[in-house]
Amino acid sequence: MHQMKTDFTDLHLLRIPLPFRLKEVNLYLLIDSSGATLIDTGPHTEAAIKALGEQFESLGISWESIHTVLITHYHSDHCGMAAEIKKRSGATIYMARQDAELLQIFLAHPDRIVGDDDLYVRHGMPGKMVALLRAVTDPLMELIPSFEPDQFFQEDQPIVLEPFVFVPIHTPGHSPGHTCLFEQKTGLFFSGDHVLPEITPNIAAHPESPLEDPMATFLRSLEAIMRLDVAQTFPAHGSSINNLSERVSEIILHHMERKLEVEKILAGGPASTYAITMELFNKNLPLLERWMAFYETLAHIVNLENEGRIKREDGADTILFSLS
Ligand SMILES: [Zn+2]
Repeated sequence: MHQMKTDFTDLHLLRIPLPFRLKEVNLYLLIDSSGATLIDTGPHTEAAIKALGEQFESLGISWESIHTVLITHYHSDHCGMAAEIKKRSGATIYMARQDAELLQIFLAHPDRIVGDDDLYVRHGMPGKMVALLRAVTDPLMELIPSFEPDQFFQEDQPIVLEPFVFVPIHTPGHSPGHTCLFEQKTGLFFSGDHVLPEITPNIAAHPESPLEDPMATFLRSLEAIMRLDVAQTFPAHGSSINNLSERVSEIILHHMERKLEVEKILAGGPASTYAITMELFNKNLPLLERWMAFYETLAHIVNLENEGRIKREDGADTILFSLS
């Protein structure tokens, strides 16, 4: 628990442990006269529940006093504990409709997280790696006991919880329904995973994603938040960001550079998505991260295709890409 440096003495950062290489997720607790609002929940693990309970206790907050939970997106570290918090507090849970729908699909059909083996093989991934993928993705859904949000975010409907007014800002990209929360009175911006200080969020051209060009959508969502009058940004991982525009510019530049690197690789001849992934990323990434890298590379590829910069050769057994 850390007191934030703002005029609002009732904003608290809670750090919750994660069972991933990314070690922690930040939750934000905003206390008002009738209780408290929690932004994101942490995953449903014993360690996370214990950490949250202990931090509530040191703040003199009870589970029952949580009246509202605002979920930025459907990933386990952000919404996994929603059912548990709902059970203990009866809080109203807000989430984006697009993410609630995608979460329901994955909870009902965890096999659709990995999806069609054939697709990976055609994109050049070794069959052996595809076979191992399910074993690492299956346990992911165990971190999210099923829940249903009580409310869907509506961009034109600020959530008024005096003294706070939260404006949901739809920022699709990292997930189709990703939502940042802009506290209008103070200019505090809760960015979820949309903008992170040290890493860039994974952007995946996953077959279950309703986004046709997730990279283009993400970049548009980045440009959109630059118009907001933000005083300070509180991300879901890492420390707070003082200059949001500067960080957003860095992330946009990173993706422009990545796209140029893909073109540079293809200047050497046609290549598969997996082969390009292996050029762009560290070859020794753990399986789960290599899988995420594969889908992010595909997101760059789809984006370059849509811009007419590269083209696809859709063969019977393999899909290769080359410069236009
Ligand atoms: Zn995430």
